[in-house]
Amino acid sequence: MATDPDTTAARDGRSSYDYTRDEETPDELAALSRLVGGEVRFDEYSKQLYATDASAYEMTPIGVVFPTSTRDVQTVMRHCSDHGIPVLPRGGGTSLAGQAVNEAVVLDFTRHMDGVLEIDPDAGRARAEVGVYLGDLNAKLAAHDLKFAPDPAWGDKSALGGAIGNNSTGSHSLKYGKTDAYIEECEVVLADGTLATFGELTLEELDERADPDGELIERIHAEVRRIVEEEADAVEEAYPNLKRNVSGYNLDMLIEEARGADDTEGGSVNLARLLAGSEGTLAIVTEAEVSLEPVPETKSMALLTYDDLIEAMEDVAPILEHDPSAVEVMDDVLLDLARETEEFGDVVSMLPPEASSVLLVEFYAESDAEGMEKVAGLLADRVPDAEREGEPSADRVRTDAPINATAAMEAHDHEERATFWKMRKSGLPILLSRTTDEKHISFIEDCAVPPEHLPEYASEFQEILADNGTFASIYAHAGPGVLHVRPLINTKEADGVDAMVDIADRVTDVVARLGGSVSGEHGDGRARTQWNKKLYGEHLWEVFRDLKTAFDPDWLLNPGSVCGDFDMSENLRYGPDYEFEAGFEPMLNWENDNGFQGMAELCHGCGGCRGPQETTGGVMCPTFRASEEEITSTRGRANALRQAMSGDLPDGEALSEEFLSEVMDLCIGCKGCAKDCPSEVDMAKLKVELTHEHHQRNGANLRSRLFANVDTLSKLGSATAPVSNWLPELPGARLAMEKTVGIARERTLPAFHRETLVDWFEERGPRVSETEADRKALLFPDTYTNYNHPDVGRAAVRVLEAAGVHVAIPDGVVDSGRPPFSKGFLDVARERAEENVAALAPRIEEGWDVVVVEPSDAVMFQLDYLDLLSGDDVQRVATNTFGVMEYLNAFGLDVPEGEGSLTYHGHCHQKAMRKDLHAAAVLERAGYEVDALDSGCCGMAGSFGYEDDHYAMSRAIGSILVEQVEESSGDRVIAPGASCRTQLGDLGGEEPPHPIEVLAEGL
Ligand SMILES: Cc1cc2nc3c(=O)[nH]c(=O)nc-3n(C[C@H](O)[C@H](O)[C@H](O)COP(=O)(O)OP(=O)(O)OC[C@H]3O[C@@H](n4cnc5c(N)ncnc54)[C@H](O)[C@@H]3O)c2cc1C
Ligand code: SF4
Ligand code: SF4
Repeated sequence: MATDPDTTAARDGRSSYDYTRDEETPDELAALSRLVGGEVRFDEYSKQLYATDASAYEMTPIGVVFPTSTRDVQTVMRHCSDHGIPVLPRGGGTSLAGQAVNEAVVLDFTRHMDGVLEIDPDAGRARAEVGVYLGDLNAKLAAHDLKFAPDPAWGDKSALGGAIGNNSTGSHSLKYGKTDAYIEECEVVLADGTLATFGELTLEELDERADPDGELIERIHAEVRRIVEEEADAVEEAYPNLKRNVSGYNLDMLIEEARGADDTEGGSVNLARLLAGSEGTLAIVTEAEVSLEPVPETKSMALLTYDDLIEAMEDVAPILEHDPSAVEVMDDVLLDLARETEEFGDVVSMLPPEASSVLLVEFYAESDAEGMEKVAGLLADRVPDAEREGEPSADRVRTDAPINATAAMEAHDHEERATFWKMRKSGLPILLSRTTDEKHISFIEDCAVPPEHLPEYASEFQEILADNGTFASIYAHAGPGVLHVRPLINTKEADGVDAMVDIADRVTDVVARLGGSVSGEHGDGRARTQWNKKLYGEHLWEVFRDLKTAFDPDWLLNPGSVCGDFDMSENLRYGPDYEFEAGFEPMLNWENDNGFQGMAELCHGCGGCRGPQETTGGVMCPTFRASEEEITSTRGRANALRQAMSGDLPDGEALSEEFLSEVMDLCIGCKGCAKDCPSEVDMAKLKVELTHEHHQRNGANLRSRLFANVDTLSKLGSATAPVSNWLPELPGARLAMEKTVGIARERTLPAFHRETLVDWFEERGPRVSETEADRKALLFPDTYTNYNHPDVGRAAVRVLEAAGVHVAIPDGVVDSGRPPFSKGFLDVARERAEENVAALAPRIEEGWDVVVVEPSDAVMFQLDYLDLLSGDDVQRVATNTFGVMEYLNAFGLDVPEGEGSLTYHGHCHQKAMRKDLHAAAVLERAGYEVDALDSGCCGMAGSFGYEDDHYAMSRAIGSILVEQVEESSGDRVIAPGASCRTQLGDLGGEEPPHPIEVLAEGL
């Protein structure tokens, strides 16, 4: 990630963010702060931030340490071992079964121990620290056309240590298997703090290192030797024969490798591979050497449709004979959801209407021709009546299985394939967006069965769900026999918890009978550990426990997981005892189920907001990217808010000064999460509610009040310009402003213009009469445009008139209310909204459109007014208000021609409404080449970047944008947001123009 740690808010002397409080450190751990190089945190907020992962579970840890070196890890482990304190290593915390939460000292490796240490392309090996995100590792390997092959779907947000801990794998496990196949050697810290290296050993070497009465490391080797010698048959008998099984310890691989190829002499063991899937319970890995795979030359895909899920399942085994790289299933629930989306509605409508399930089949190929041939071979065999784009090879695979598929589509170029993959993933976010008490939770989500048993498994699973009065969608990795199933359950009710246990229990029976595993992907954790006994039997359960004891005699490493005492019905995030009390009456309209509470409980913890720009959907979450602190991610804020309102933090904490300043203050209100988060958590809206209530109770500071009333100040500034522009530039004035009002001395305040946009227009009047116009538009004089950037408003008037629009400036309007809204003065914002709606709604009824130059004001009308007001008038205003570039695009208005290449940075609020690309479309129509950046917020966020305690964060976020701008091919930068333009100007570049100004140049 593009983060310069020196620019984080916590390190700016003026910011009051205090992430390193240790006043609550337990006595026996107090020395850690002194001994460990990285941060050591035992405060309540830090603990709560690490109390959840992406599972249905929650458990408050003892503290959190961010090690900087293996030595730090040893220090923590030795110290905790001396005092009998449990330890939990953690990566991105994206686990789905609850194995990344525990009452333990959490070691977060992603902060400092995330380096790629060595890449040896010739040997096909890389060595890295365990905190490196898989996405970052692969980005470095891509330069050598190599990759770390296991591809968990959330790889960009999850770390190498987590992949080892969970033995992760992904859609391409048919080709690559799991992480265990790629671990060559690990540097580890054992339960007593000893440093060790685990790698391949011959059985003789194992023997030499084993001593049941020796040091810890010797006892470990002795126990491994015992298992190899005494338990091999038991393991072979009990373990399922599957490509995917991550339940229990990785004993099947141990035995297989120990027996050697074809059970001949000369086998070996690799204790590093034994750690795969051990969920942090055996040892802490600090560095790993992994083997790599070449990036495939190309791929091709086919989508096969079926009238029925079971028929699709029956087709998996014959399809596998064609040697695909992936076979993924989507059932009718997900297809219906994808059909409803703007992005995939068209693709789904191309499928036969009766199609109720699809299989996506992907092939790796050396060339496009080979890819086409492989798809043709598949279709010739499995959908013989389908039209084919290519010809199968003469020696194509022919299976004798009955034909179930009804139709097929092919995807050969990169974009088509990406559409198929995205469609497969499109419905899940909708399932996860429920704000009801019932949620699609993960607890029996990834069982695996031999693919030939999929039909039986799917139909029995559906019966079990029906018996429990619930349903789920069925999707994902049908090829290796792993179906993702998230039943809809309300765990806040005891009946819901009972249903959850019943479903898990009965599905485990089915899976065991069919030769499958309760976890083919996500691990044991809190949800599955108890079922390992049933899956493997009492004897192997005891073997697991003996192995655990050999590695970790006092059971200090993530105790409970894999073979411990975890009970799936305990420590639920929402259990029957859960209570939520916001502590105030929300002021905004919350149309979603369960209102404010539903939104506060919506985050499911996936960690999607902790990813780099290109993987999170673009905007979300700029503050995390800039600081890499959990508390500055959407997940961190959502967790802390829910915990503060459900008794995990002291009563009333959510409205305390501390909470507002530590948890909420750095949220810049960009609305990125409302669009990019799979569950659409709207943190900006939650924040303004909270801030408003806080103002009600405690009053607001001077700076907030000043910025909330920026319209009054601007009016004054314009009336007294140019004097008002000189004053802040007098010697000492900036420092005085910082000291008195808290405006960062580095910032130059926007200049005021004596002649406002309204003055200019009143003087000039319209140039296109109402009678000759095709459309008539009220140009709303937003505060920035009117007082600070009237030239942009003038450009808008000219371009609109050139397009034949009759333009007027509306009477009776006031500032949009955006500044007071963002600052949490909701009653002021509501008054402004009422005035503007009263002035504009009747004009809209007369046929006028409303056009706004400043994006955040346009979005205020289009979106935020609906949170403040109800009724037809506000709906009318919301529907008939347009950003100026949106207006030109939506009505196909003529625009002046121009040429050249432009780098376009859209405004985050318009991105949240998916309205940012109108500008690019219009400019391209005008003749420009446009590189529309996949950028986030500029970091200015209205007044945020002007504020002294936010300046460092604002710069850090802005520097991510500057990097993107510098990498873009455009000759000129354009940005519609006034704040974005200021930020880009302040960070070293020239202040870029608004896109409408560029268009106006062509007049
Ligand atoms: C939307 C979504 C999709 C997912 N898709 C997939 C998928 O396709 N395939 C898949 O396999 N998983 C998937 N997962 C689950 C999870 O993302 C992966 O298993 C991931 O690899 C875990 O990485 P992490 O860094 O988040 O690990 P964490 O959750 O932080 O930790 C995972 C386990 O590893 C242990 N661990 C972490 N670091 C170390 C260390 N240094 N030493 C020893 N033990 C350690 C932890 O104690 C924990 O038990 C998905 C999760 C989500 C939310
Ligand atoms: S806020 Fe959204 S993206 Fe972030 S963890 Fe929660 S659900 Fe995932
Ligand atoms: S509004 Fe923006 S800064 Fe705030 S949590 Fe959402 S994505 Fe992060």
